[in-house]
Amino acid sequence: MKPLVLLGTGNGLGRVREMLLAREPELNIVRPDDADAQQAEVALCWNPVPGSLGMYPHLRLIHSIAAGADQIFKDPSRNPQIPVCRIVDPDHRLGMVEYVLWGVLHYHRGFDQVLRNQAWVFWDRPAQRPAKQTKVGVMGLGELGRAVASQLAALDFDTRGWARRAQQIEGVTTFQAGEIKAFLSGLDILVCLLPLTTETVGILGEETFAQMATGSVVINCGRGEHLNREDLLAALDNGQLRSALLDVFEQEPLPVTDPFWRHPQICVTPHIASSASYEVIAGQILENLARLESGAPLANEVNPEQGY
Ligand code: NDP
Repeated sequence: MKPLVLLGTGNGLGRVREMLLAREPELNIVRPDDADAQQAEVALCWNPVPGSLGMYPHLRLIHSIAAGADQIFKDPSRNPQIPVCRIVDPDHRLGMVEYVLWGVLHYHRGFDQVLRNQAWVFWDRPAQRPAKQTKVGVMGLGELGRAVASQLAALDFDTRGWARRAQQIEGVTTFQAGEIKAFLSGLDILVCLLPLTTETVGILGEETFAQMATGSVVINCGRGEHLNREDLLAALDNGQLRSALLDVFEQEPLPVTDPFWRHPQICVTPHIASSASYEVIAGQILENLARLESGAPLANEVNPEQGY
């Protein structure tokens, strides 16, 4: 096989390279500066720089090393004929379920207030209410959102889910694309697990917050670009939102000067909601390399029309 080129930033690509070579030492995995990079038939990507994909004329497969493939679709130089695949790891779902349950329980039980009160050495017992009285909405009911919504419903939260197409999940009231107002109406906690596309960019903004309950909470695990930063700060200031738990940002790492770091109503986590294991990532890439060679259908191919 011709070379595989690593495109993008972060140490994840290096870890994937090590894992691939441990399993298939004969693979020729190169960096863009290497002499034979131009011959690459496969690009392995994490946040590739826009304009980079078009530099490899022999590409036959573009593989994200993560669940999201939005950065790949943002590259205007990408040849739309080349298939794009992503990673789907069952354990990934569990990690996301843990993160979102932690966030929802944190706000539902008022631990944000309790922690603030401790700093003031103030004994105050927030009112406890049953989970079924807390309305939680999950935007995006794919590999991750379905599992999250289902576990929230199992804990007896009044759970809603929203996706483009009609879906059925036990215990969850579901809504389709055109029903977003009904989905958002009166939500106490909104969880974003959407992919980033031209339709979903900026979806966490004033219009959305205005439909939710006064003093509600936003949890963003999708992508930083889903959030309108100015609208979030305004909604926190005017009390429409009580808090935001943010795991993803337009610029990562979040710059040290970013006001989000020090905002008393924002909890910042460093894109840790869930990651696929490097074993699974390497295994799925190897599986797709084998399928590419044999002409079998690729696994976890992204629909280029939808962008996810
Ligand atoms: P999937 O592609 O499996 O699911 C996407 C879901 O979003 C589908 O239910 C889809 O609807 C829905 N959707 C897409 N566009 C729209 C729209 N315009 N209106 C309404 N619903 C829409 O994605 P995953 O569940 O695997 O992952 C979701 C995202 O989570 C990733 O793209 C990534 O950005 C983020 N992520 C974040 C991580 C973190 O650690 N913070 C880790 C992993 C992923 P339908 O079912 O009708 O197609």
